[in-house]
Amino acid sequence: MRRAAIYCRISQDREGAGLGVARQEADCRALIGRKGWVMVDVYPDNDVSAYSGAPRPAWKRLLADIEDGTIDAIACWHVDRLTRSPRELENVIDLADRRGVELATVTGEIDLATPTGRLIARMLGAAARHEAEHKAERQKRQRRQSAEAGKVSGGGTRPYGYAEDRITVIDEEAEVICEAARRVLAGESLSSVCREFRKRDIMTSTRGHWVPTTLRRLLASARISGRREHTPHSASESTRPLLGVIVADAVWPAIISATDSDRLRTLLSDPARDFRAQAATGRTYLLSGILRCGRCGWRMNGRPRSGVPRYVCPNVPGTASCGGVATNAARTDEHVRDMVLTALDSPELAKRVRHQAGDDDGLAEDVRADEEQLEELAQAWAAREISRKEWMAARAPIDARLEKSRAQLARMSRASPLLGFIGTAEEMVNRWEAMNVSQQRAIISATVRTVVVGVANPRKRWDPDRFTFDWIA
Ligand SMILES: [Zn+2]
Repeated sequence: MRRAAIYCRISQDREGAGLGVARQEADCRALIGRKGWVMVDVYPDNDVSAYSGAPRPAWKRLLADIEDGTIDAIACWHVDRLTRSPRELENVIDLADRRGVELATVTGEIDLATPTGRLIARMLGAAARHEAEHKAERQKRQRRQSAEAGKVSGGGTRPYGYAEDRITVIDEEAEVICEAARRVLAGESLSSVCREFRKRDIMTSTRGHWVPTTLRRLLASARISGRREHTPHSASESTRPLLGVIVADAVWPAIISATDSDRLRTLLSDPARDFRAQAATGRTYLLSGILRCGRCGWRMNGRPRSGVPRYVCPNVPGTASCGGVATNAARTDEHVRDMVLTALDSPELAKRVRHQAGDDDGLAEDVRADEEQLEELAQAWAAREISRKEWMAARAPIDARLEKSRAQLARMSRASPLLGFIGTAEEMVNRWEAMNVSQQRAIISATVRTVVVGVANPRKRWDPDRFTFDWIA
């Protein structure tokens, strides 16, 4: 009596057929019963792609047991469950030959001991492989086509802000998106917004907590502005680029305006902003990194002494930092706040801010047009319509123009937190106190580049003349 193994494998290419491991196993058990074999063990593997190189531990164990002579029959659902490539199939045929192993499949008899049986197995294997490859190709094409038609893309979890149909707006979540967009555009850090959302128990669409990377993806996605974005597919989800190419107006409604979306996309893809570092520190010192040591020019950090918060030149070993300057944090914060708010009350600054943060004169539109042109050039090169040299020559002026527009957009984004602030002198201090550190920092960074702290005068307890402001002109 033959000692049979059941081999089953779950993979994406048969997912649509609902062919889970349990179903495969049940069918194989029945088959073994019909054949009059004895079931020894089940060897289940789980891999996603039919022809990926992912290891199959159960498969390896099965081959080893056949070599050891403890197994002399295999039952599986279909040849395409057993092997993933012609080479693997040849190994099985070879093994069947040497060890006299019999193979039975639920979908039809295959006798690997005869030339006809082997031919059928090879043909079935080749057909399955072709189907899997063809399907991958077809899916890629469909994704691109449906992107261009502005259609809904399926799969995965529902996008935040929209219901399961991916079209109906969920009002409550749309409000959260608008709030987050407004605050990030006003210069607040992603981690600060996330922290505050956590306090209010605002959850993601998968009932998780908001973290900066998730919020960044949401706000940078063209989807929330009712536009369809095509992101060229890469092997792994985690390396998916933040921004794709906006290819069409979508069939679903917008939650934020296209202008705000373009600003967010520029702001959030700015490599100068290190989101991970921001997320990690969760700054509590208002002016760390903004203050400079008056003796050595080093960035001053917040550091308490005897429980009193101070900013100090850090005296980092092996660097030029001197460690010779320190200032009381509370009084310095207050002084810098007063200077900044006073400056904001001046008509000249008001005028400049209005100019900088005002209408973008179609700048975002220009950026998008340039990005699309770059994409077209890349495609022309990929399709061998132009040479690499031609490609490079054509993209140089576009790159230069893009860089300029992006810098301009970034300047505008930096200035925008000030818009709501100008010309309201008496209200300012109250509103300032209601802000969190991140929001306050955004206001300061939009007004001053650095504040240099001079060496303390030993005869004065508090000396405002120690501070030199480098205003953003
Ligand atoms: Zn120093």
